Amino acid sequence: MLSLVPLFVVTILLVRAARAQLLQAAITKQQIIASDTAANVDKYLADKINILFFQSRDYSLRKFIEPDTSQNLAILMKQDSNLEEVSLLDQQGKQKIAFNKNSLINTLTDQSGSDAFKAVSYLAGKEFISSVSYNNKGDPILTIAVPLLRTNTVVNLNDLSQADLGTYKTPDDIQGALVATYNISDLWQSVLSTKVGHGGYAYVVDGLGNLVAHPDNKFLVSHQKIANVKAVTEFINGKDTTQNTVSETGQNVISTPHKLTRTNWAVIVEEPVSSIYAGINSFIKLAAVIIFSAAILSIILSLVFRSQLVGPIKQLSFGARLLGSGNFDHKISIKSNDELRELADTFNNMGLDIKRLVRNLESKNLSLYTEQTKLSSIISSVSDGIIALNKKGEIVSINPPAAQLIKKVPTQVQGQKMTDLFPWEHEGQHFEPELNKPGLYHYSDLILPRGNEFSYLDMMVSVIHPKQSEVTAIITVHDITKLRELDFMKLDFVAIAAHELRTPLTVIQGYLSLLNEDALKQLSIYNLENLQKAITGSNQLRSLINKLLSIARIERGELEVNIAKLDLSRLVKDIVDQHSTAAAQKEQHIFYHVPTDGHIYVPGDSAALSEVINNLIGNALKYTDSGGKVDVNLLVNKNNEVRVEVADNGPGIPSSLRARLFTKFYRAQRSLIAGSRGTGLGLYISKSIIELHHGKIGIEPDSGKGSVFYFTLPLYDPVKHDMLLSNKKESGGIRGWFKKRPTG
Ligand code: ADP
Repeated sequence: MLSLVPLFVVTILLVRAARAQLLQAAITKQQIIASDTAANVDKYLADKINILFFQSRDYSLRKFIEPDTSQNLAILMKQDSNLEEVSLLDQQGKQKIAFNKNSLINTLTDQSGSDAFKAVSYLAGKEFISSVSYNNKGDPILTIAVPLLRTNTVVNLNDLSQADLGTYKTPDDIQGALVATYNISDLWQSVLSTKVGHGGYAYVVDGLGNLVAHPDNKFLVSHQKIANVKAVTEFINGKDTTQNTVSETGQNVISTPHKLTRTNWAVIVEEPVSSIYAGINSFIKLAAVIIFSAAILSIILSLVFRSQLVGPIKQLSFGARLLGSGNFDHKISIKSNDELRELADTFNNMGLDIKRLVRNLESKNLSLYTEQTKLSSIISSVSDGIIALNKKGEIVSINPPAAQLIKKVPTQVQGQKMTDLFPWEHEGQHFEPELNKPGLYHYSDLILPRGNEFSYLDMMVSVIHPKQSEVTAIITVHDITKLRELDFMKLDFVAIAAHELRTPLTVIQGYLSLLNEDALKQLSIYNLENLQKAITGSNQLRSLINKLLSIARIERGELEVNIAKLDLSRLVKDIVDQHSTAAAQKEQHIFYHVPTDGHIYVPGDSAALSEVINNLIGNALKYTDSGGKVDVNLLVNKNNEVRVEVADNGPGIPSSLRARLFTKFYRAQRSLIAGSRGTGLGLYISKSIIELHHGKIGIEPDSGKGSVFYFTLPLYDPVKHDMLLSNKKESGGIRGWFKKRPTG
């Protein structure tokens, strides 16, 4: 319905514009018709008047020369079919000659009392036009009279065209009158037949408001004076404007008066307003019908649509609401066979899909929840500490063992920065694990101080790509404090036991050595051998006890070296010399090579380095068969390092076994098979001592010709080491350059 409003408005605007256009066109047309009609009447009268004046001149000059005059009037009668009667009056108003339609009138009358004669006398030389009267046939009759004026022109009667009409100066100049009576039916016919639009016409009034001619004869008879009609009043007042008025018959009209020039009459043209708008009225009617029909149609259509569209849409929206509230089983049923049904089907299918999806999600959720529960129960049940961090390093999740490390419960630390809570240390320094670069990191030997206590820990950090989840790092902390404490207890025990064994061993060795001094004289050869065995055994026991003590010190980080300027070349030579007797007994050859005759100094602990060199040379001799050869070389390389090499031509050590050579208690398979005595501690202790000296110890790759063990030490540099050593001289050298573990 609303859509019709613009149509309605447009129609009104169109109608208004069209009405204005039609009115303007009607006015223009009416003015033209009024002017044309008036011009016709004027011309009609002018023609008649001119002919009469032309005739009058003839009579003025000829002074009523009757035969000619009579002839001329007879011709005039013949030529002008409108002429009913024509007569020539003399100065007194008497008819001199008169003709009617049929012939010359013989009985001439006195016309001095007639309106025409009187008027001519008063009109000072002008024509007289009577008002219109009607004869017994009802034909309009009009009388026109012109004066016969005196003329002074000497006239050639044969050519009157040169003569003037005479001029009026005094009433005396009027010699008579030519009076003609016309039947003006044809003029009236043309005027009154004027059609203006539909139902419009023209009528004629005179200057007093008398109705002269009207197309409705009855009206003409019944209304002779219509001066109060607006258009007539306007004309009498000298105006000829077109206006909307009430007509002489009481109709609403547009009328235009037009004054004639020859008489004081006016032609009034009028057209009923209804006829002007007749065309547009039919359009309005048509438009009204169309609009009304459209309104009815739109109501019907909207009712139809309502039933066909609104109902299903309501069903759809109801269904959608149910769907939104989680009722996926509701079925929208639309019977129509159109897009709405397709939509309903889509909705129903969507409901089923969502239902499936929700079920799927629910079951996934359930399994996720189960997994999460499992995971969190696993995490909380594992003895290792687990900490999950976000990309800011804040704790997202933490299990009780991890929180317990700092004597807290998980809820107390969640959301806090891990590094603020856990002051990790490694080798006495503050330590922060890698948390940004994705990868897996393993850290061992970490310490977490807890007041006066320490936790010893191994740590595994898994850094996940930050974009993949909220958790960016998972830290697994393995608390090895108990193990470490056990180790320390073990080492304490070893140290105490070794220590305690040393005193009685010293006593035993003292007595054995006393016994040995007198043995040759007092003991039998058999007992002498036994004594020697006891002495060797006690020496081995002392060596073992010393090694165990060293191991305990190393493990507890208490191994100390006293660094001083040491003549390494001399030390090596002395040790080589000490071993040469034993070597000779085994028919082994030991050689010492040094590149210069001078001395080579290193910053070092004489006793500790002696232990290392003894161990390497001892091993070379021990594991090489009799007749073998041991070369001890001392070299200085480009890096200002001193290198001591002990090479033998013994069985060598296969590459696969070398990796573990320098670990505690390791003995190669072959040496076990060979039955050689040993503890597997010598190389481990040597490595610790050399590393305390900032040196390196190792074995050259297997060449298949025995083994080459070596160690390197920095060459003594006066600039560097004098300073260092002089500061420590009072305490006899630098003690404990670093400790492997804090002592707590
Ligand atoms: P030990 O000699 O007391 O067993 P070490 O730590 O000194 O302990 O040596 C560890 C092991 O390395 C030995 O048991 C032996 O198997 C092997 N080894 C050491 N030196 C040599 C060598 N020069 N030739 C062959 N094997 C050797």
